[in-house]
Amino acid sequence: MRIEAVNTHLLEHRLDTAFESASMRFDKRVHVLVEIVCDDGTTGWGECLGPALPNAAVVKAYAQWLIGRDPLETEKHWAVLYNALRDQGQRGLSVTALSGIDIALWDIKGKHFGVPVSTLLGGRFRESVRAYATGSFKRDGVDRIEDNAAEVARYREQGFHATKIKIGFDPEEDLRVIAAVREAAGPDMRIMIDGNHGYEAYEAIRVGQRAAEYGIDWFEEPVVPEQLQAYREVRARQPIPVAGGETWHTRWGMREPIETRCVDIIQPDICGCGGFSEIRRIADLASLHGVRVVPHVWGTAVQIAAALQFTAAMVPDPVRNKPLEPILEFDRTINPFRQAVVKTPLEHAGGVVAIPDRPGLGIEINRDALTEFALKAE
Ligand SMILES: [Mg+2]
Repeated sequence: MRIEAVNTHLLEHRLDTAFESASMRFDKRVHVLVEIVCDDGTTGWGECLGPALPNAAVVKAYAQWLIGRDPLETEKHWAVLYNALRDQGQRGLSVTALSGIDIALWDIKGKHFGVPVSTLLGGRFRESVRAYATGSFKRDGVDRIEDNAAEVARYREQGFHATKIKIGFDPEEDLRVIAAVREAAGPDMRIMIDGNHGYEAYEAIRVGQRAAEYGIDWFEEPVVPEQLQAYREVRARQPIPVAGGETWHTRWGMREPIETRCVDIIQPDICGCGGFSEIRRIADLASLHGVRVVPHVWGTAVQIAAALQFTAAMVPDPVRNKPLEPILEFDRTINPFRQAVVKTPLEHAGGVVAIPDRPGLGIEINRDALTEFALKAE
């Protein structure tokens, strides 16, 4: 079996109502899928986290080292591609593009051997996973506090055990949002807060100190990802466990945050940190240091499928009679092609998502949706 083609599919949807995190504004959804086609007809799918057009350009640049090669040699391809851009790469687009390729190669490997990727990773510890609802962005033209509270009440009704809300805008307003959301969620629902690196360290510390009374499971990206000392200060000087890692890439990028305990919870994104090949190594590094792994997920069903396969194979850590089970990040913002790209949507039922057990990622791509949502030339 040889690789014949490396294709990218750019998908786009313009939103009627824009929304914001502390660091990004979304007036459209744009994602990129990677398709690797082999000479025996086997096709693998992957996805890259981050800006779609630059990712697609880097994926195409990598294709020259893949065409004509054996797709099963995932470790060799990872090393060759990483080394190809290492001197100017090491993190960012060179790694997010590599991630989409690596995921597609693992999909091919699973299909070739007739097993899900989770089996290739060592075996399935679980057949389903509890999802947490990610949402509560700042939407244009509405009262943010009322809007976020109503949204979280809906998640609770739908059966989600946990939700993550967006802060990092203005500390005082953010604290009013947190109070309103706790009121709407009731006492039992888990709440996480995500600063999207919008705060100064002293703001994050004050927010964490005052938000703790509302029972917050973690405080994500309190400060910018380059400021590891600020991360350590936030972790030391306020009581909420600190999470982060969606913009840290590869084992080398994760090493200092994990070894110096910038975070209690590390959030590698399979489509960003280096694919299945690399997230395994990052999870082992985290385990060495007693840091919990909760993968970051922000993409289409291809990314959700990749996260599900990895999650199925996550080893209970620490081992105990009732282990702390992994949870799945489940983006609830508007994206009509998120599930349309697959023939069988990876939806939740009562806040729980079943993990596909068919070969590879366990999904079948709906090519009609790739056409319908194809990015139009400007
Ligand atoms: Mg986040």
